[in-house]
Formats: sequence, C-alpha cells, structure tokens
Amino acid sequence: MNTYNEMKLEFSSYSENESFARTVVSAFIARMDPTLEELADVKTAVSEAVTNAIIHGYEKNPGKVTIYGKIEGNAIYLEISDEGEGISDIAKAMEPLYTSKPELDRSGMGFAFMEAFMDELHVESEPGKGTVIKMKKVIYSAMNLS
Ligand code: ATP
Ligand code: MG
Repeated sequence: MNTYNEMKLEFSSYSENESFARTVVSAFIARMDPTLEELADVKTAVSEAVTNAIIHGYEKNPGKVTIYGKIEGNAIYLEISDEGEGISDIAKAMEPLYTSKPELDRSGMGFAFMEAFMDELHVESEPGKGTVIKMKKVIYSAMNLS
C-alpha cells in the first residue's frame, strides 16, 4: 500500500457541511487504520477548524472552505483554509477560553482542542485575507503500513 496520498476538498461555508468535511477526512485516513480514539481526535480537530472558518471567517459573507490533506508515512497533515475575515491577534485568539463571540455561547475552546488532539498546530492569518490552520498527527497504528 502507498504510504503517500493527497486530497483536496472545497465546499461552501454552510454549517451543514461540517459533518460532510469530518466524514471525508475520516474516509481519507481510514486506510491508516487509526484507533477509534485517533479517529475521534482528528474528527474533532477538523470540526473545530471548519466551524471556525464558517462562523468566524465567513460570519458576514459566505465563501469557500478548503481542506488539503496529506498522508506521509504514519502522519496525517491537514490544512484548513478560508478567505474570510482573518485574525488580528493570533496569540490571543489561541488562548484557552478566549472567544470573540461570548454572546453566541461559544466557549473559546476550539484552538485548545485542536492543540490537545493533534501533535502540531500552526495558525497563519491576515485580517481581510483569511486563515490557514495547519495540523499534523501521527497515527501510531499506521507504522505498520508498507
Ligand atoms: P468555540 O470553538 O469553543 O465554540 P470560539 O470559536 O470562539 O469558541 P476558538 O475556536 O478557540 O473559540 O477561536 C478563538 C477565536 O479566534 C474566535 O472567537 C475568533 O475570534 C477567532 N477565530 C478562530 N478561527 C477563525 C477564523 N477562521 N477566522 C476568523 N477568526 C477566527
Ligand atoms: Mg471555535
């Protein structure tokens, strides 16, 4: 089996597409034979990043969310991008419990979950241009792929 694979997915910023995105990423990494816990971790991280793109990035104007996925050896790399509002203070946005929308009952834990459930998390963002979330996770069971 190949230990290298790539995919790209683009969809409209509708909240019903969150589960679509989760499902596609699950299917993409299924061949790595993740444990249920590893799979749940990746799905949660994807959900948080996609939800953020939809409700924060495209709060005012809907747009397209893109997911680029790459499997390299036993690692999964994901990039979730929007071309929405962007983030002016990334460090502050990433603090646990910080939310710019307390009135919407957001808890400000999205980035904290992405950080906890994935092995690496990088955030690139520019106000008015959009946001790219880059994440990496090693799938231990995939070490046997050859
Ligand atoms: P929760 O995820 O717990 O529902 P939240 O979305 O506010 O709450 P985080 O996911 O941690 O919390 O995000 C923190 C803040 O970062 C958001 O409140 C928002 O201001 C900003 N943010 C996150 N992602 C984006 C994005 N894609 N575009 C613009 N702003 C974003
Ligand atoms: Mg969030």
